[in-house]
Amino acid sequence: MSFASLGLSAPLLKAVAEQGYDTPSPIQSQAIPAVLEGKDVMAAAQTGTGKTAGFTLPILHRLSQGDRPRAGSQIPVRALILTPTRELAAQVGESVATYGKHLPLKSAVVFGGVKINPQIATLRQGVDILVATPGRLLDLYQQKVVRFDKLEVLVLDEADRMLDMGFIHDIRKILAVLPKQRQNLLFSATFSNDIRNLAKGLVNDPVEISV
Ligand code: AMP
Repeated sequence: MSFASLGLSAPLLKAVAEQGYDTPSPIQSQAIPAVLEGKDVMAAAQTGTGKTAGFTLPILHRLSQGDRPRAGSQIPVRALILTPTRELAAQVGESVATYGKHLPLKSAVVFGGVKINPQIATLRQGVDILVATPGRLLDLYQQKVVRFDKLEVLVLDEADRMLDMGFIHDIRKILAVLPKQRQNLLFSATFSNDIRNLAKGLVNDPVEISV
């Protein structure tokens, strides 16, 4: 199994090779083809399994195919990745930037506990892929700095930790303002009843992966 055989485009294969990866990890070889096909995915995977590349690479692939939607001078958010903590948001944002470095897509990371104004300035320039923690994202949405009418993909990363940290209400508020037609990817270390309940209203006929 190679990254090329999973169907990823040349700019992504180049970035992967530059990272020194030669073989996809189990989560990657299962998640990447499913996400490329546009399927919803529910994956049980811990940190360290390579899950971040498992969703980031195929999202970058999909968003780089076809035209970017036009919305005046602002690029609307096309992929939203929610994470429970600022550390994880920063790490995932780093992965998006690293794997996407040969593609003309813009990404940004926003989280709470820091000044909001620099984040507003970044978002006003438009982003294709936004990595965010739930509370700060809601603030920015309520201030009309981001819009989701062109959103194509939603990722909940470490969903079990998001529930443990009490983000369920924020997540529900965010879900309520997203377009109904979209791809949903749910990553969680464990699949408790609470996660299954969340998944019920979120993923549609998902490919289930467990590593
Ligand atoms: P993650 O589980 O997404 O936090 O990734 C864990 C670590 O594995 C990160 O440091 C990645 O850079 C690395 N990694 C991800 N995919 C691969 C791969 N296919 N081969 C080697 N290392 C990888």
